[in-house]
Amino acid sequence: MAEASPKKIVGRLAPSPTGALHLGNARTFMIAWLNVRSQGGKLVLRMEDLDHPKNKAGADRQALEDLRWLGFDWDEGPDIGGANGPYVQTRRIEIYRQAVTKLSECGLAYPCICTRRDIDAGQSAPHEGEMLHYKGTCRNRFKTYSEALLTANGRLPAWRFNTGTSAPIQINDLFAGKYEQDVAKYCGDFVLARDADGAGYMLASVLDDAAMGITEIVRGDDLLSATPAQILIANALKLPIPSYIHVPLVVGADGKRLAKRHGDTKISTYREAGVKPEQIIGALAASCGWADEDEQISLNALLPRYNLHTIPHKPFVWDRELN
Ligand code: GLU
Repeated sequence: MAEASPKKIVGRLAPSPTGALHLGNARTFMIAWLNVRSQGGKLVLRMEDLDHPKNKAGADRQALEDLRWLGFDWDEGPDIGGANGPYVQTRRIEIYRQAVTKLSECGLAYPCICTRRDIDAGQSAPHEGEMLHYKGTCRNRFKTYSEALLTANGRLPAWRFNTGTSAPIQINDLFAGKYEQDVAKYCGDFVLARDADGAGYMLASVLDDAAMGITEIVRGDDLLSATPAQILIANALKLPIPSYIHVPLVVGADGKRLAKRHGDTKISTYREAGVKPEQIIGALAASCGWADEDEQISLNALLPRYNLHTIPHKPFVWDRELN
């Protein structure tokens, strides 16, 4: 009798077109790509473009171009299609709307009209700082979204997740290790989406990962603390929980997350300056223990060297030039 074949790994690259791809994103994507490809798995590219105010025109196209130039490929994505599309979040709004309806029908989502000052970072991936704790002021306050809208003085009510009956969540992160959080205590009823349709990072990301069959999520460890809330959403909607690999971020010499003040680390700038993709991949691979300092190597050639356990458990400090 044939043995059941092991479950195929499906990973994803999920860029947000809020700025140009830089060394920090590239390092996380490199780990994500190698993690999947070294296991013979499939890779999905999804454009996370829900954060309209922060989106930069053309950044979506540029991200794909930069990734291809660095040597990345994927099996499904906005430019090549696939069975689980569309792969652009602004084209999936109906899916998010239906999920919000479902959650609100079972009392797990409710509209909230508290002002921005009172509440946590809702729509973007919550990278900066910790979430504020929300006391649940609007829980049980409105029967419908329209009622909240009428009370909101022209503001658009957000959707919050009701953590009232939730238990603490444990994660066994394949890189970061054990992590436990009681979401109700940590941030309270968190913002699912700052949008009538439920089109916000927290919800969209969970729904898309499930719809696209993602089995392993590799992303920056700034999102580890948001993961238990995402697991609550997935549990509420009876969606499968993927494995997680949260890896440290790239920071500047001052220990702060890589940004403009640390110099221009945009992939497109290096490319225009004549830097080769192998130099960039080499430098990032060296930071993970897979290449010598200044070694030039392609993404493909790194496949046999991939090892999650040689990646240091601390942020990678970028304090050099590439030329
Ligand atoms: N799109 C998010 C970002 O670029 C990543 C979110 C995720 O990996 O879940 O920061």
